Amino acid sequence: MTRRALITEAQNTWCPGCGNFAIQHTLKNLLTDRENVGESLDNVVLVSGIGCHAKIADYLNINSVYTLHGRTIPVATGIKLANPHLTVICCVGDGDCYAEGLDHLIFAAKRNIDITVIVHNNRVYGLTTGQYTPTSPLGFRGRSTPAGTAEYPFNPLELMLASGATYIARGYTRKMDPLKDLIRQGIAHHGFSFIDVLQICATFFPAADYYGSRVYELAGHNTTDFEAACHVAREWNYNTDSRIALGLFYKKDAPTFEEAMQPSPVSAREKQEAITALLKSRT
Ligand code: SF4
Repeated sequence: MTRRALITEAQNTWCPGCGNFAIQHTLKNLLTDRENVGESLDNVVLVSGIGCHAKIADYLNINSVYTLHGRTIPVATGIKLANPHLTVICCVGDGDCYAEGLDHLIFAAKRNIDITVIVHNNRVYGLTTGQYTPTSPLGFRGRSTPAGTAEYPFNPLELMLASGATYIARGYTRKMDPLKDLIRQGIAHHGFSFIDVLQICATFFPAADYYGSRVYELAGHNTTDFEAACHVAREWNYNTDSRIALGLFYKKDAPTFEEAMQPSPVSAREKQEAITALLKSRT
């Protein structure tokens, strides 16, 4: 097998200190591990949305699709349904996925389509220079809210629990080893996997001190207990000053969407012939 350079030569325009680098290198390391055990990267597809995060499609040398704002998940769903043997990884932003694409996220979780969604959650629109997103804290002062937002953030982990996601985790870009493990497990999970990654935006939301004093790794948590997952997901609601749990919150086995979709007993040729006959009957 010919090894490829996984970091492309495209000019990288992320700001120094941006948490996107940590996610990029975590994925690169995971892909390298995959090659090391003889698995071809030809079967991996990376799908991204629009935002600073989305440039990862330019910077990682694997099959990738750069989609529209908020539309990563429907494109990924189509890819997975067309070829269930592919490993489909979505890189999305918090504005991209929790605002423009929220309905797609909810329905992907509800359907249990076997894709992995990694949310680069820097809690701000970075590419458009600092507007608030659905996970920005109350009072966040950004370009569109100089006096501070008047909205509370929502809690994406609670939302995913309510929507039926079968793998729910939270990582942090300054804890790369645990993050790698969460993403690796998410990719291996048979069903919809969701990993909310607290990501530093060095320019518009430099929250390293805030996270550094609050994050802790979940230990002794029963990941099959839905109520326990709800309890720990509510400990920090993206606005309070409480501790912030990292790790796997919830996991369960369930049939995937692509398994539940029964193949049509009618062949494509038969369908085409029926349509042709119908059209002829109308002329
Ligand atoms: Fe990263 Fe923020 Fe710069 Fe965008 S604006 S590249 S998210 S540090």
